[in-house]
Amino acid sequence: MTRQRRVILDELRGAAHHPTADAVYEAVRKRIPRISLATVYRNLEVLCERGLAARVACGDVRRRYDGRTRPHEHARCRRCGRIVDLPGARRDARAIRRVEQKTGFRISARRVEYVGLCSRCRRDDDTGTADE
Ligand code: ZN
Ligand code: MN
Repeated sequence: MTRQRRVILDELRGAAHHPTADAVYEAVRKRIPRISLATVYRNLEVLCERGLAARVACGDVRRRYDGRTRPHEHARCRRCGRIVDLPGARRDARAIRRVEQKTGFRISARRVEYVGLCSRCRRDDDTGTADE
């Protein structure tokens, strides 16, 4: 693995939330000032292909990356886009079997996303500053 790629993976794993390529780029740039956004993006994709990182499946417009590759579920705030890991997400064998019977698919992965308002955005609601 190249040093660039190692630094990118390092920053992704250290990120508290699920950053966009731009956010990873901003962090990596502090350590490798001359790196380009395209290089960061390309390396993130390679890391995903190799199973060292993951793309977050979510309804967000911009792709988000995850340094955690073990299966887990997410809760996403529909207002600010914050994505939080949910503990204890498990393979739901019954749900998978039901989908396989219904569709004829052989299911290899299941992704669940909970969507709502995070605590910060709810607080904004309570003070009447938000209008959604
Ligand atoms: Zn929020
Ligand atoms: Mn995650």
